[in-house]
Amino acid sequence: MYDERFLLHDTGPYHPEHPERLKAILKGIQDAGLLSDLTVFPAVSPEMKWIEAVHTKEYIQRFKEKCLAGEPILDDPDNKMCKDTYNTALLAVGGVIDAVRRVMENELDNAFCAVRPPGHHAEADKAMGFCYFGNVAIAAKYLLQKWHLSQILIIDFDAHHGNGTQHIFESDPSVIYYSIHQHPSFAYPGTGREFEVGTGKGTGSVKNSTSLPGNSDDDWKHLVERDLLPIFDKFNPEFILVSTGFDAHIDDQMSNVKISTEWYTWMIKLIMELASKHTDGKLVSVLEGGYVLKRLPELAKNHVEVLLNHSCHRRKKCLSQKQ
Ligand SMILES: [Zn+2]
Repeated sequence: MYDERFLLHDTGPYHPEHPERLKAILKGIQDAGLLSDLTVFPAVSPEMKWIEAVHTKEYIQRFKEKCLAGEPILDDPDNKMCKDTYNTALLAVGGVIDAVRRVMENELDNAFCAVRPPGHHAEADKAMGFCYFGNVAIAAKYLLQKWHLSQILIIDFDAHHGNGTQHIFESDPSVIYYSIHQHPSFAYPGTGREFEVGTGKGTGSVKNSTSLPGNSDDDWKHLVERDLLPIFDKFNPEFILVSTGFDAHIDDQMSNVKISTEWYTWMIKLIMELASKHTDGKLVSVLEGGYVLKRLPELAKNHVEVLLNHSCHRRKKCLSQKQ
């Protein structure tokens, strides 16, 4: 899922979350010749009830009014706005919901959503960390309420903790949130410690793997095997949503962990294998962070290639048979 209107969210000349990121991602997929094997579809406007299922009406109204009035910032100096920001954020939500719908209706096997703005830092009533609406959180609510699923798993491998996603679901046992990220003492947003495991009825539904600065592929493989795999012994997810952040890459200055391109391929392969086994491959991956323009093409290409290969398995047709 990609839409040129995502480029309209203008954060100014010095902001790391800028439109060139999506152009680099698209170029990587295009140059690898993958476009002809993909179903590329644009974003659509969402029904407001899905956004209201996660965010307060007061926040939605404040975002809309401040944006359309031309205010340059929402809530946090990180959250720059132009007059198109509100509508672009709506489209990102609508596009992700539409990708989930297409997977649920078996029109698609799985999907990657190349969206801006990202979503996992957005709180129910506050914009944070380049994020305005919780794209993945809203998609999870849509799956629970529209499709009556009872167990969703969100896997977040952005270098930063998805505070918004965790807070929205931490008391809800129907959504499991797993995140691997740099240790909160050294990194934005400061949440996501290992003792945060959910609250009330949701106790046990949150799992945080924390990584020290300087950690590399083996450390992150170990953490994932130690903390993510046991989730599948305890829960039976019916759908996997992935918060895909490429900012733990060694070349990315937004974190101090040193993850290689190969780790990212290993991670999405592992997730797809788990999806094949547990959710009949039902998975939607949504872009969060990732800021190195020279790395985004290869990272996005490898990511989408893994999704495509697994899509072949599900539909019992292979890329090689097409040739
Ligand atoms: Zn991040």
